[in-house]
Amino acid sequence: MCFRDFLIAETHDAPRALAKPWRRLGIAYTAGRLTPQSAAGAADTLLVMTVTSPAAASIDRDRVAALTERQRATFRERTAASGRMFERAAEVMPGGVPSQFQVGDPWPVYVERGEGSRVWDVDGNEYLDFHNGFGVMCVGHANPVIAAAVKAQMDLGTHFAAPTEGSITVAAELKRRWGLPHWRFTNSGTESTMDAIHLARAASGEDVIIKIEGTYHGHHDAVMVSVKPPAELMGDRAHPASVAYGLGHPEAMVELTRVVPFNDADALERLLDELEGKVAGVILEPAMMNVNIVPPVAGYLERVRELTSAHGVTLIFDEVKTGAAVAAGGATELYGVTPDVVCLAKAICGGLPGGAIGVTDELATLMADGRVRQQGTFNGNPLVMAAAEATLTEVLTDAAYTKLHAANKSLMAGCERVIAEYGLPAHTVGMGSKGCVVFSAEPVREYRDYLTKIHHDLSDLAWLYHMNAGIFMTPGRDEEWTLSVLHSEADLARYVEVFETFARDVTAA
Ligand code: PLP
Repeated sequence: MCFRDFLIAETHDAPRALAKPWRRLGIAYTAGRLTPQSAAGAADTLLVMTVTSPAAASIDRDRVAALTERQRATFRERTAASGRMFERAAEVMPGGVPSQFQVGDPWPVYVERGEGSRVWDVDGNEYLDFHNGFGVMCVGHANPVIAAAVKAQMDLGTHFAAPTEGSITVAAELKRRWGLPHWRFTNSGTESTMDAIHLARAASGEDVIIKIEGTYHGHHDAVMVSVKPPAELMGDRAHPASVAYGLGHPEAMVELTRVVPFNDADALERLLDELEGKVAGVILEPAMMNVNIVPPVAGYLERVRELTSAHGVTLIFDEVKTGAAVAAGGATELYGVTPDVVCLAKAICGGLPGGAIGVTDELATLMADGRVRQQGTFNGNPLVMAAAEATLTEVLTDAAYTKLHAANKSLMAGCERVIAEYGLPAHTVGMGSKGCVVFSAEPVREYRDYLTKIHHDLSDLAWLYHMNAGIFMTPGRDEEWTLSVLHSEADLARYVEVFETFARDVTAA
């Protein structure tokens, strides 16, 4: 199968005036259809980009505000037990949560259990889970194959801090999927990108890292820079400022990380020229995944590869979100561009906490002889390896990816129908198991577009509608859905039904 090219769905009445902004994204407008300029025509792809440019209804802001108030009240009533749990939790955990990402307004939804495509909260509400643990649970909840593998390992011991055969099997499978020859394990996406940056600095002897404005790569110093910079601090686009994401990151570290806009290889080239001889590496998500989904424009990743090779700097793909979720070999396979380092976590371990980095021969020697200290007590933990092996070899098979792709396409098509019918200023973007409705009539190609083009109040309201109707979604306007192999057609139909209720209410005269 070739996963490299866009598969484009029919569009709905795309007006000619909208051809220009889509063209900037590498998509051409011809006779009512939008097609990618890079497409080689492969139809068996996992990358789907359905673009709708409807004659957008004008959105009545007062109506949106009133609906939001009403939905908020419903949310409070439905999740009262979560509210009570939040009070207890806030006494012992800052913000009442184990991780800042779980903070919720007015409180987080505390979950009791999950099975298949469903989760239940402490109020007894049942949800279809499209959050899926921030994209981890492509295998579905309590998947019996993963459970059996983990239970079997439990009986054989859970931790030795010594290598086991499982780690060899998983490393070999990751090598097969990504093509990079050497793999080491970590415990999270944060550790994966941290190790990748240590390697880039060690290989070059330089310190400066270039990242993309608006991306998140975990919470270590080198990448907690310009993650969601406020408009008033981010500087002009030609010279973006390096803005710390939260307190506690030394200014000296923040200054070592420079940022460029996504999808602009010329900007990267200018910065590499300006900093010639000082840059260790460039880290990016091949498709941005934290401002909804922003795919790379045609030819962008290829040029990033050429530029980093020409300047002798390490190219790091952060595939923590895309890896194993969008295709067997993640975005590396999807786009056909291979970096020097791939960072993985989330979906590869089927719900257990683990991650991995894949590297070239040259970078591997830096770890093999201990010059770079890539290490940790729990790295390659046998329980995590058992879950990863079952995930990668038994559950997320080629057939599973075909199924996930078809399900994603069908969900996107359902949302597109609603968008067109109600004239919402929105479009869908998706790849593999992941997709989203972007509340913008124009394409979003970088963080600054996300700040200015998206109707964030509609994103917030859609989240409330979904949650109140039993569709569990990521807490935040920036995220996407992730499907699992256990989602059924009825689950997808229910999502679309709820989205249609939202659309009808928002656009009602
Ligand atoms: N990289 C990306 C692209 C992510 O989305 C995340 C987390 O959401 C991370 C790295 C950090 O992963 P973790 O939360 O496992 O540390």
